Amino acid sequence: MKNNRLIIISYRLPFSIKTDQKTATVQSSSGGLVTAVKSLDLSQSAHKPIWIGCADFTQRQWEKHRHLVDDDFEYVPVFLDKATQKGFYNGFSNSVLWPLFHYFPSYVDYHDEHLRAYQAANQQVCETVVEHLQPNDEVWVHDYHFLGLPQLIRERVPTASIGFFLHIPFPSNEMLRLLPKRCRDYLLTGLLGANLIGFHTNDYLIHFLESVQLNLGLPHQMAKILYQDHCVQGQAFPIGINYGLYHDAYDEPDVVAERAELHQAYPGKIIFSVDRLDYTKGVMQRLDALEAFLQTHSEWIGKLVFILVVIPSRDEIQTYWERKQMIEQAVGRINGKFATLTWMPIVYRYASLSFPQLMGLYTACDVALITPLRDGMNLVAKEFIASRQDQQGVLVLSELTGAANELGQALMVNPLDEYEVAERLAEALAMPPEEQERRIAIMQKRISTYSVQEWAADFFNVLQTASRGSHQKS
Ligand code: UDP
Repeated sequence: MKNNRLIIISYRLPFSIKTDQKTATVQSSSGGLVTAVKSLDLSQSAHKPIWIGCADFTQRQWEKHRHLVDDDFEYVPVFLDKATQKGFYNGFSNSVLWPLFHYFPSYVDYHDEHLRAYQAANQQVCETVVEHLQPNDEVWVHDYHFLGLPQLIRERVPTASIGFFLHIPFPSNEMLRLLPKRCRDYLLTGLLGANLIGFHTNDYLIHFLESVQLNLGLPHQMAKILYQDHCVQGQAFPIGINYGLYHDAYDEPDVVAERAELHQAYPGKIIFSVDRLDYTKGVMQRLDALEAFLQTHSEWIGKLVFILVVIPSRDEIQTYWERKQMIEQAVGRINGKFATLTWMPIVYRYASLSFPQLMGLYTACDVALITPLRDGMNLVAKEFIASRQDQQGVLVLSELTGAANELGQALMVNPLDEYEVAERLAEALAMPPEEQERRIAIMQKRISTYSVQEWAADFFNVLQTASRGSHQKS
């Protein structure tokens, strides 16, 4: 990528600015995307890469504190007005696209004005991209907030090299067709402005190709679509994790200390799960399964604990805070039903964890119980496997996650079938250490060879080839 400058677009910039009356601090985010992009070999590029995202601070705060932010990228915040931001993010992105793409049509709350806010936000971000775009730049757009953006950029700069990656599932057309035609046409043609569209799995890619064929009448050949005068290529790129980070943390002193503390507090078996507060994560169904398990396997009463961590998320949206209340009621009910005077089955926390706390839990638990109803990928499953230097522990995993494609040695479950989850849990708790080791070793080998660094480099190389081919054609 010697002469090519990278322009990244994601909903948020990879840092936040916290201010009080006297001081301001900048905190870098450390999610998968940030790691991936920062790991690309940008050192030989003649220009500093640009990162464009929506600001969660004011223009004034930005002008005052921007000097505190790292200079790995030229960061360009986009300031949306309050109404646009709300309709775009809470409204269309998280109350239409998120539920629909995760197969929760009954949670969709569609309003035309929210679609208009989404279109306006995509348009405003497009203006910012075009302001900065130069020949030879590579544009990489991320996620469901910007489905319309590739085509908006294409209309302004027909020869631009544009990649798009979707971090959530792409659903079957049966979901998409629930949207008004003007809406789904906007979303599909919006994506077709890209040269390369990446998905986590082949299933999502196939759903996209079918939707384009059924809604727009555009066929594909080997996942390539001719749209207007350029060629659009679809491909699966299952996102990886920063394998070394999770694998090497096992022996860090604060992780060792967390693990020791957990073993001391909970001398029996530990079952662990961690998810953002989200109906897609299946926490209620997981609690039902635990109840079924305690009912049918009463020999485990008093001998295990289920540590359930829920990370605060989007709790300004009604379906989210309602879920929090439902989870808390179910935890109270199950604890009330099975607790003895000296023991309780569930330890529940509604909070974010520090890295050592998370690693302590990953490496101390006997079973990671990861049962989303739908998940584009699920990084927690991969992080758990990577973290187990001791090659012990059992992963019980929902077959409805993208990660299930790569983690075939997990005990696979249908998260809606509480009896199956209960039986797999019993199997996990009784699994001999040699069998645990055998399974984890195979999964570690697989996920260590396609880490997030390889994922990003792979996407980028394919984008460069796809864009070159596409421009020659037009
Ligand atoms: N995670 C976090 N805070 C925590 C615990 C976990 O940010 O307190 C991270 C976790 O390490 C993982 C991510 O959140 O990288 C969750 O990713 P996943 O793909 O499992 O689900 P998502 O939240 O993206 O739907």
